[in-house]
Amino acid sequence: MDLPLSAADRELQQKARDFTDQVLVPLEDECEANDGLTPESHAAAKQAVLDWEFHAINHAEPDGGRGHDLFEQMLVEEQWGRATGALWDIPWRPSIPLASGTEEQKERFLRPACRGERRDAYAITEEGAGSDPTMVETSAKRDRDVWTITGEKWHVTSGDVADFFLLHTHVEGDPTKATIFLVDRDTPGVRLVRTPKYMHTFVFEHPIFAFEGVRVGDDRILGEVGRGFELTKDWFVEERLMIGARTVGAATRALELSLDFAKERRQFGRPIVDFQAVEFMLADMAAELMAAKSMLYRVCWQAGRGGADRKELHAMAAAVKLVCSETAGRVADEAVQIHGGRGYMREHPVERLWRELRVDRIWEGTSEIQRVVIGNELRKRGADRYTGWPTE
Ligand SMILES: Cc1cc2nc3c(=O)[nH]c(=O)nc-3n(C[C@H](O)[C@H](O)[C@H](O)COP(=O)(O)OP(=O)(O)OC[C@H]3O[C@@H](n4cnc5c(N)ncnc54)[C@H](O)[C@@H]3O)c2cc1C
Repeated sequence: MDLPLSAADRELQQKARDFTDQVLVPLEDECEANDGLTPESHAAAKQAVLDWEFHAINHAEPDGGRGHDLFEQMLVEEQWGRATGALWDIPWRPSIPLASGTEEQKERFLRPACRGERRDAYAITEEGAGSDPTMVETSAKRDRDVWTITGEKWHVTSGDVADFFLLHTHVEGDPTKATIFLVDRDTPGVRLVRTPKYMHTFVFEHPIFAFEGVRVGDDRILGEVGRGFELTKDWFVEERLMIGARTVGAATRALELSLDFAKERRQFGRPIVDFQAVEFMLADMAAELMAAKSMLYRVCWQAGRGGADRKELHAMAAAVKLVCSETAGRVADEAVQIHGGRGYMREHPVERLWRELRVDRIWEGTSEIQRVVIGNELRKRGADRYTGWPTE
């Protein structure tokens, strides 16, 4: 088995770490204090993304992306995940189904999005449709050459800065005809309903949008009618692996901060790390992180370089998201405990990590839904994807 990172992978990882330390982390206090960044800070951060060549790391170079495979993307996102305030979302990663567009769609949506001139948001969830997307009520009806779309989407991440949506609809209200439409934000009938506040501090917002008789042509169908769920699944796989990466990065920072603090902080005449109760918390954090990270690297290796097929990846990405996000939640909780009162102050990164990691057990499929995916795989194909090992 060949475990060490190559020189090129190490270099990319270090560059992502430097970007995090030099560009993202210095913005954390501003983001927390103002619940977001000023337009000037946004503009400077955007320029930094381009200068550091971290735009569209997930898309092919001919489309203006950086052409990184999933293993490289994971190395980068693990480092970005160290930053609080979801500042890791500043470097834009246009949704992967955009790569399935026609030449005209790529020219209009994907390529400008890779360059940072446009930004997308993926809108699936509705008031009545969350874990079960077959309950989506947003419908698209065709009359001659025009489609009319009506519905409402919730929790549209970065909807405040997006200028187009990947909109998950059901043609004629039929879930077997799930279809993604590319809808410009300024199309008549697109309306911002409201922008709710959430538990975490997030550099962008998650608004609710209404689509009221929005009219588009056939040229706005991504893929084809009825392929919507497959495209959304591709997005889930990539996002679940990247959640794995970011949560491991975030939890690693929480562990490092806790270790430093425990060595320095003195109570009862000695550093608190000398108390076995604290030392054992640190030991659990390190051991659990080692397990989660080993799994993350292995699956992303298979995804990026090991030739894993789509079904295999869907099954494994669910396990990665489940284990990494749940581990990170436990690690962050222990980090707060080790920091005592300081760990409860918003000005401290461990407090923000604790609060911000909570959503990783909910979005892109809750932990329960990841278990449903794993359970289906076990029933259909057995345990090999999880307990076996890839061979050449
Ligand atoms: C901050 C944030 C950002 C988001 N961004 C986006 C976005 O950009 N685009 C988008 O489309 N969506 C987005 N979402 C939505 C997110 O993906 C959903 O919230 C998530 O999938 C859960 O759906 P739900 O909230 O409707 O919960 P529900 O589906 O109502 O679930 C409620 C509870 O029931 C459990 N449950 C449901 N079904 C089962 C089952 N079969 N077995 C066991 N337990 C079950 C769930 O696990 C959960 O505990 C975002 C959500 C948040 C909080």
